[in-house]
Amino acid sequence: MEHPENCAEYKGLTVNAGIEQPASVNPYLKNRPRHKKRELSVADYVDGIVKGETTILSQAVTLVESLKPEHQAVAQEVIEKCLPYAGSSIRVGISGVPGAGKSTSIDVFGLHVLEQYGGKLAVLAIDPSSERSKGSILGDKTRMEKLSVHPKSFIRPSPSAGSLGGVARKTRETIILCEAAGYDKIFVETVGVGQSETAVHSMVDFFLLIQLAGTGDELQGIKRGIMEMADGIVINKADGDNLERAKLAATQFRNALHLFPAPESGWTPQVLTYSGFYNLGVKEIWDMVYKYMDFVKENGYFEYRRNEQSKYWMYESINEQLRDSFYHNPKIEAMLGEREQQVLQGNLTSFVAAKSLLDTYFEDMKR
Ligand code: GDP
Repeated sequence: MEHPENCAEYKGLTVNAGIEQPASVNPYLKNRPRHKKRELSVADYVDGIVKGETTILSQAVTLVESLKPEHQAVAQEVIEKCLPYAGSSIRVGISGVPGAGKSTSIDVFGLHVLEQYGGKLAVLAIDPSSERSKGSILGDKTRMEKLSVHPKSFIRPSPSAGSLGGVARKTRETIILCEAAGYDKIFVETVGVGQSETAVHSMVDFFLLIQLAGTGDELQGIKRGIMEMADGIVINKADGDNLERAKLAATQFRNALHLFPAPESGWTPQVLTYSGFYNLGVKEIWDMVYKYMDFVKENGYFEYRRNEQSKYWMYESINEQLRDSFYHNPKIEAMLGEREQQVLQGNLTSFVAAKSLLDTYFEDMKR
């Protein structure tokens, strides 16, 4: 029996059979005429971007991030046409370990610079872990409550597909689109884990490192390379019980900075304490950033550095494309595993294995 409750022993309790359930898909849906979205042309994209239309800008960024060759072709054309409108912004890299307070701080920093200096702000991100975790945490709108609803801000999470080099290139290209759309302040956020800092450093004018006090041996956890990149180190959560510890940490960082060679820019990296949560000391941080900008524009380093970065990205693009072409070559894909095994088993030296693979690749390219 379908409903045992209907048995005679369950007195006073009956269950109706109910009706047949309707299909979960609306049967009339397929009769509706479908309007295919018109594909935008390169000129449409460029026009929309230059006019500052955020919907078009977002669509163009999606194109930049796409792995489809036909999207990439359009994206590259759009970027090229946007280049003459780009370049006139200040680009700030913001890094810190998870929990350092990046999202809280960027929210406050963003509001401060918009209020103090006007203009428009784009917040982008490079998250090397996003490929594994299938979804980026950095640059996520929900983490920046006030900034995300600010009319002059544009927040975009990290591109998620591909190698760190590929992800970083896409962020760099997105910077160009944002600048063409009139964003004159760009924040690039990243997690403090090493390689991604180098990528961010190669596309920003000022590198801001957020640190925490009170984790014990402060300086040990910091990779030397990251500290050397910093133009400013800011100790967050300098509030309440933590204030003294933050000040102490600042002194330790200042002392540690003396051990590094003087930066090429001629600028002496500053160490400041602040509280993102209570909005204390935020003005001082941005006074410092703008002072740095004046300083490097005055001594020519700003221009020099941007040129160096362009050169770096030219070589990065070459490397990335060569690597891609090599590893996606069907002949190489077929041979690679076998050669690797031979090397592991000691039947082939690494050098000979590499040479045989490269020879095969170059031979294949000739055809
Ligand atoms: P993220 O992982 O680097 O983006 O860090 P979040 O911005 O998410 O902050 C991590 C935690 O630290 C949150 O619980 C924040 O509320 C807290 N936090 C952030 N800034 C401050 C601060 O200035 N003072 C204090 N006391 N807590 C803060």
